[in-house]
Amino acid sequence: METVIQGSTLQTLRAGLRGTAHAPGEEGYDDASRAWNLAAHQQPALVVVAGGAADVMAAVRFAREGGLGVGVMATGHGVGAACDGGVLINTSNMRGVRVDPVSRTARVEAGALWTDLIHESQVHGLAGLLGSTSYVGIVGYTMGGGFGWLGRKYGFNAASVREADVVTADGELVRVSAEEHPDLFWGLGGGGGNFGIVTSLKFDLYPIGMLYGGNLIYPVEKAPEVLDAYVRWSAELPDEMTSGVAFLNVPPLPALPEPLRGKSVIAVRGCYCGESPGSGEELVRPLREELGEPIMDTFGMMPYAAMDSISMDPVDPMGARQHSEMLSDLSPEAIETLVEVAGAGSGSPLILLELRQLGGALARTADRLSTMGKGDSKFIMNGVGPAFTPEMAEGVLAYLARVTDATRPFQTGDTYVNFMELEGASAERVKAAYAPEDFERLVALKDRYDPQNILRFNRNIAPSKA
Ligand SMILES: Cc1cc2nc3c(=O)[nH]c(=O)nc-3n(C[C@H](O)[C@H](O)[C@H](O)COP(=O)(O)OP(=O)(O)OC[C@H]3O[C@@H](n4cnc5c(N)ncnc54)[C@H](O)[C@@H]3O)c2cc1C
Repeated sequence: METVIQGSTLQTLRAGLRGTAHAPGEEGYDDASRAWNLAAHQQPALVVVAGGAADVMAAVRFAREGGLGVGVMATGHGVGAACDGGVLINTSNMRGVRVDPVSRTARVEAGALWTDLIHESQVHGLAGLLGSTSYVGIVGYTMGGGFGWLGRKYGFNAASVREADVVTADGELVRVSAEEHPDLFWGLGGGGGNFGIVTSLKFDLYPIGMLYGGNLIYPVEKAPEVLDAYVRWSAELPDEMTSGVAFLNVPPLPALPEPLRGKSVIAVRGCYCGESPGSGEELVRPLREELGEPIMDTFGMMPYAAMDSISMDPVDPMGARQHSEMLSDLSPEAIETLVEVAGAGSGSPLILLELRQLGGALARTADRLSTMGKGDSKFIMNGVGPAFTPEMAEGVLAYLARVTDATRPFQTGDTYVNFMELEGASAERVKAAYAPEDFERLVALKDRYDPQNILRFNRNIAPSKA
């Protein structure tokens, strides 16, 4: 849908901005609306590159007055719905971070990435709960829950949030905490950005420096044995160890380790964050002994700042399509199915089919919002394939549908906000990310804070009168 904005209205908006505003066809428009995931295509009526909270307020008010919806993008790693015909607020210039070593908290602006924070927090021996890559936006990640290799010990970053500055759908700036707007505070902790645009977020940091983590990587032919050993091994792990197992079709890129380039492999991966990181080695030993010589064994002591090396996620923008399901358990039948769809000879076009272990501090509790549905899944499965052209995207999506069908008997039906597919997850998929009683409460919150669904270009929770 094309929406044309009158030149005079735009001039008035621009005059009041610290940042910039770009209409279709104008210089800067394409760059400012392009997402990290190149398979996302959005054509906003206007993109505002915000200089600060005041610009966010101005952009929301501008959209409201023009009867337009609002989308927000920090990096474009998680475009929930294309901001077509709306006002897209690009926060990528708002990257300020500040660490308070006394209260052990960080305060970050809307566009800050984990990589911006790591250096500032580690100088004090503190760490935030980042995910598999430090190039994701902290606020967007946290709005969907946010968990990574520290997850089973410390939980979701959403549960570590203490306070936020939020621009509501009315264009007002409010401070949100357990004391101020407590209803909004609860909803921010996983409500996917449905109730306001966060301009700054304050959250807890944890005393972490060294960790024990890495991958044990085997040829994909060994997948049945590796999965069987992984299931027995992971069942006994303490919460200090977060683990996963991944089928990888490694691209033949020079940036990747030579023994892996162009190979199909299976990797057991994990990170131990207990008080003595050396104990991690003790935990990994039985698996090493049982499975024998790997292609690569990267497990070892590492500084927190090197955690990206565990998942080896791509840093540069790429086109990708993805689908995730949550599994009740990895039974022998589930293992057999996974080997069929991703193992040797499967013809899988996916670069990654990963299973991450849940439990520990990631388990659902009654006092806070969970972004993983009812909370009875033991593993989350996430498949990702390259989608640089529409044809590639079609092939990957068809394959992901096949994986979904094959694994249906082992699925719990829950979803996870942050792993929801690119652009246009169905209302049912969004609903399945929350426990039924939480979802009811979220809709009531949407009715209260955004009854016109101005903030709709996201994993949308629609108001009841939509
Ligand atoms: C390679 C890769 C690895 C990932 N690894 C993990 C992982 O380990 N764990 C995990 O939990 N997730 C992971 N994710 C998912 C990621 O956390 C989500 O895609 C997240 O939404 C990205 O946030 P962003 O701001 O970078 O992306 P954007 O696309 O810029 O934003 C995504 C959404 O976040 C919301 N949002 C962003 N900024 C604001 C704001 N200021 N106020 C309100 N809402 C806002 C909006 O709804 C927006 O549509 C990964 C994604 C990728 C592509």
